[in-house]
Amino acid sequence: MKYKRILLKLSGEALMGNQQYGIDPVRINQYAEEIKKVHASGVEVAIVIGGGNIYRGVQAEASGIDRVQGDYMGMLATVINAMAIQSTLENHGLYTRLMSGIKMEAVCEPFIRRRAVRHLEKGRIVIFGAGIGNPYFTTDSTASLRAIEIEADVVLKGTRVDGVYTADPEKDSSATKIPNLSFEQAIREGYNIMDMTAFTLCQENNVPIIVFDMNASGNLLDIMEGKENIGTLIS
Ligand code: UDP
Repeated sequence: MKYKRILLKLSGEALMGNQQYGIDPVRINQYAEEIKKVHASGVEVAIVIGGGNIYRGVQAEASGIDRVQGDYMGMLATVINAMAIQSTLENHGLYTRLMSGIKMEAVCEPFIRRRAVRHLEKGRIVIFGAGIGNPYFTTDSTASLRAIEIEADVVLKGTRVDGVYTADPEKDSSATKIPNLSFEQAIREGYNIMDMTAFTLCQENNVPIIVFDMNASGNLLDIMEGKENIGTLIS
């Protein structure tokens, strides 16, 4: 396998599938299947999940809720998603641990780096919920930070599109996919891959990012096997 330990970032919105809100049972089961395939091939898998399908901190101010309060609400939303993923993975016969950036003893372990690494070594899938536990951050930043902490080989950003395009492929039919990018190039060209905090964390710590289509069956495993032309590699 090309990668031994991966950090998979899934957005909350991806879990919605075709729904307007919440968690699509078909979609979450598809994701579990994809993760199971990769795990079965011996790759250690850690997951960061977003919360955008339930709540985002930026929504808060518009509704008269304090921004920081809103961010904590967003973090709690990620825990709901993380619990759903944990349960779904377990239904597929996988062993998991949920670790939270905010202490929540009844539902998950606190994030302890050494413990997370040990879980991975034992073949457990580790899900990081509640972001990094601080307001004004995103789950993309969480993905970068946790990837560095657990020494993951790569951050895999699962999206609806199969990589970074010269323009938005959903709006511009002349857009073409870019197979490889350097961090500098991505910043120079203004490609919006992750927020800057998340992006520069990976850049400064030499953790490559792969943007790929998580909804296409087999993609994740293909990347692990080193197949060319899947997604965009930023390194
Ligand atoms: N959030 C936060 N700190 C973190 C991670 C998340 O404050 O470390 C909050 C923030 O309000 C964010 C929300 O949780 O909008 C949900 O996460 P995100 O928007 O990253 O989810 P995604 O877009 O991936 O679904």
